[in-house]
Amino acid sequence: MDPSARDFDSASRTGTDVRIGHGYDLHRLEALAPKGVGRPLIVGGVGVPHDRGPVAHSDGDVLLHALTDALLGALALPDIGQLFPDDADENDGRDSADFVRAALSLVHERGWAPVNVDCTVVLERPRLGPLKVEIRNRIAELLGMDVADVNLKGKTHEGLDAVGEGRAIEAHVVALLGRRSGGKS
Ligand code: MG
Repeated sequence: MDPSARDFDSASRTGTDVRIGHGYDLHRLEALAPKGVGRPLIVGGVGVPHDRGPVAHSDGDVLLHALTDALLGALALPDIGQLFPDDADENDGRDSADFVRAALSLVHERGWAPVNVDCTVVLERPRLGPLKVEIRNRIAELLGMDVADVNLKGKTHEGLDAVGEGRAIEAHVVALLGRRSGGKS
């Protein structure tokens, strides 16, 4: 679980006080249970009314999964699948906010904090526009950040491939971390 000490020595040696991480995730979208196997669609901690939802072991929040991996990736920590195995009973239907909180704790413990996060969700329908502010607020709340430092872009896949055919949802997140003032490094 501990990152390689070498990574942090390297950051200290070069005087680097920022780290950047990228997270990516995709979930298949299926008809909602009991007709299908989809869970209710949740994006960035916010319920999205839709007749399809993610196939997932946890609650399937694609955006919070990508966010978790962006935070972990910035510090070369193990990824979400390593920290929260998808065959562990305790992760069955689990609120993905738990994964973000755990990743943020690891980031804080190591003396870093998010500076800003930039998120992209690719979903053919429904459009996320009406929920954008709510999702940004939720992520800002989870990370203890100002909403001005949390961006969200909604894209479609132009009808192409599985995402464009509405059979999958994708998310990308880039997170910049800075050293916490007074924090250990
Ligand atoms: Mg996932």
